[in-house]
Amino acid sequence: MKPQNINEKALTGMLPEELFSHLSLDKPFRAKQLFRWIAAGHANFEQMTNISPEMREYWAQNETLYSTKITQTLRDPDGTIKLQISCADGAAVETVLLIDHAGRKTACVSCQVGCPMDCAFCQTGHLGYTRNLLAGEIVEQFFHLERQAGKLDSIVFMGMGEPMLNLEAIRKTVAILTHPEGRGLSKRRITISTCGLSDGIRSLADDGPDIRLAVSLTTANEKLRSELMPVTHSHPLKKLKEAILYFSEKTGKRVTLEAALMGGVNTGEKDAEELAAFSQGLSVHINLIPWNAVPEIPFTTPSSAETAAFVKMLESRGLNVTLRTHRGRSIGGACGQLGKKSDK
Ligand code: SF4
Repeated sequence: MKPQNINEKALTGMLPEELFSHLSLDKPFRAKQLFRWIAAGHANFEQMTNISPEMREYWAQNETLYSTKITQTLRDPDGTIKLQISCADGAAVETVLLIDHAGRKTACVSCQVGCPMDCAFCQTGHLGYTRNLLAGEIVEQFFHLERQAGKLDSIVFMGMGEPMLNLEAIRKTVAILTHPEGRGLSKRRITISTCGLSDGIRSLADDGPDIRLAVSLTTANEKLRSELMPVTHSHPLKKLKEAILYFSEKTGKRVTLEAALMGGVNTGEKDAEELAAFSQGLSVHINLIPWNAVPEIPFTTPSSAETAAFVKMLESRGLNVTLRTHRGRSIGGACGQLGKKSDK
């Protein structure tokens, strides 16, 4: 059930045609002007100088431009920024800016308050689930980060929550951020990451948007995966593999398989063998992420030697592998840590 006081009328969550009708404007170009100002990152009406002062004053009194606000900004020495954001109903989410070694900036945004999927290794999963975020609340995370760090290169729906459970809001977010009259982000720079909801993957293949897909696989052992990721009970590996194949065939895109590596859990020879068997016949790239520690969760981060050995095991089986370096650990901004209490 939706809380009463979430703000569905924030202007950040509207396309130009929706702004036009919501604001009862006389000309469509006025909606485009406003849309462009919002896409340029302006969070108040005052700076929108090509809009009449009367109109700006009226909107300032009667409309909500942003429905969320930043409550805390945390910066890791490696350049990662984590923002804690409060929604109109008081719900709290986190969003992260990641900067890679080449200086490319990626927004890792949340799509739900908490998460119902209960993955054993993830802090967010331990928070439980409150609600889906609105498109405006997701769009605002991107713009909040752009105001902190300048123009961003890409966005991943990989923060708190399972995006396939909020696919309509993701579709709207993509429509807003890629709109040629506004931010104009390329769809090639957008990735959705799922814990393996096969019907969501098929829906994305059939109805778009035409963005990249990452699947958090973690292990290709059915029993272990069921223990680590309860989604496996309703979406077993066979069904998941069929959905990935369907997606690749329909879109022509290669899919990223992500694996959070936990010391002594999924880094052995047998794990490599099963991962290779799962990947056979698929167009995939393997992305390994050494597990980022969360105090309440009883796994360990694998040693560099253990991780390197696993990379070799996969490569020797002909798999295309990337090892992700950890970013943002000191501020609880690394993968799997969102929702973690920070000491800062
Ligand atoms: S890993 Fe993703 S899907 Fe799983 S509990 Fe965490 S946020 Fe949810």
